[in-house]
Amino acid sequence: MTTQLKALIIGGGMAGPVTAMALRQAGIDSTVYEAYDRGADGVGAFLTLAVNGLSALHTLGLADLVRGKGFDTPSMVASMGDGRRLAEFSFGGALPDGTVNQTITRADLYGVLRDEAVRRGVPIEYGRRLVAAESTSDGVLARFADGSTARGDLLVGADGLHSVTRGIIDPNAPAPRYVPLLNAGGYAKGVELAAEPGVMYMFFGRRCFFSYVVRPDGEVWWFANPPQPTELSARELAAITPEQWRAKLSDLFAEDGFPAQRVIDATGEIFSGWNTYDFPKVPTWHRDRMIIIGDAAHATSPASGQGASMALEDAVTLAKCLRDLPDVPAAFAGYERLRRARVERVVARGKRNGDGKALGPVGRRLLPLIFKVVARAAGRQEWLYDHRIDWTEPVSVG
Ligand SMILES: Cc1cc2nc3c(=O)[nH]c(=O)nc-3n(C[C@H](O)[C@H](O)[C@H](O)COP(=O)(O)OP(=O)(O)OC[C@H]3O[C@@H](n4cnc5c(N)ncnc54)[C@H](O)[C@@H]3O)c2cc1C
Repeated sequence: MTTQLKALIIGGGMAGPVTAMALRQAGIDSTVYEAYDRGADGVGAFLTLAVNGLSALHTLGLADLVRGKGFDTPSMVASMGDGRRLAEFSFGGALPDGTVNQTITRADLYGVLRDEAVRRGVPIEYGRRLVAAESTSDGVLARFADGSTARGDLLVGADGLHSVTRGIIDPNAPAPRYVPLLNAGGYAKGVELAAEPGVMYMFFGRRCFFSYVVRPDGEVWWFANPPQPTELSARELAAITPEQWRAKLSDLFAEDGFPAQRVIDATGEIFSGWNTYDFPKVPTWHRDRMIIIGDAAHATSPASGQGASMALEDAVTLAKCLRDLPDVPAAFAGYERLRRARVERVVARGKRNGDGKALGPVGRRLLPLIFKVVARAAGRQEWLYDHRIDWTEPVSVG
């Protein structure tokens, strides 16, 4: 694009700051508007960043920063609750510089990306919650909860699962789909496990899914997904005390042969209280000069291990489209053409993985069979992990 653009980016989570850095690399200015104060960072959970997401970060010179905070997690081992091994998989091949799948706390990942965005000159404004936006003759006017406004040539909604931008673009946009699993986890110290550091161990327990990975220094990072058939409200979730969570998890794993109980006992603070959601399809991603990306457009169940990586690929792809295509509507259309089929395939895969965690006793008996099929499919995961975005290659129209 030849005209100088100014983008308003809503959301300072994962996609927002990375989009701002990608746009900057493409010669486009932006400001990030984040609803919360900076201090709201410390959400306890961790996530895995897949090689395809790390490759997207490489195009912006960000992968090494992230690697500095995370640790290598190249593979996983899945087992039944009684210890019977179901399968071993790799989380994709290494990048040319040896980078493999990383496990990192959300707080570290968000922090490192935001700090680097600021260091590169991206303005990030906190306490600015988008409540409305209008198309104008030459761009977009955003309105914030504090009564302030901002004008830009385009608006990127990177405002996550409960995106306000999504509803502004399409008032009939679907609500997120509830996936009947809760999320809890923690960091255990001083517990000895017969485990290889950097391998993610997953257990399909009798009543609950459990997973852990040992950091090179011996700390055990774990999470569990208790089944929860009906959606709990935020108030109901908040009312469950840490002691109740501990008791609930201990009870869920009481009959299993893997060391969940020991890991939970060695954990100081259990993080908990998230429902799981995804979006099978959000039909409308853009209107006029507004677009949604990341979880706002295609949240996937955490079971895909790809939500963050998809957000990072989105950020880089959108910046390339805005750099190379003749105008904003053409860039948005080009972006959707490049992204929709891929992200919907990832969401579908995440749903299947999540369904496996919520199986009842009968379904669980079929797990060895299911894993035989999955293991065959795992040899065909190139579409997922080998996806690479070449920053220098121009995006073509049509
Ligand atoms: C329990 C759990 C485990 C997960 N595990 C993994 C994993 O292992 N691997 C993986 O790849 N992904 C994982 N994910 C998914 C991953 O965290 C998300 O896909 C990723 O954070 C999406 O980035 P985003 O920028 O689109 O949204 P977010 O990171 O959610 O950021 C959205 C931002 O927008 C802000 N915001 C919201 N509304 C407004 C508004 N109106 N105005 C201004 N700002 C606003 C929010 O405060 C937030 O900072 C997991 C998610 C959960 C919940």
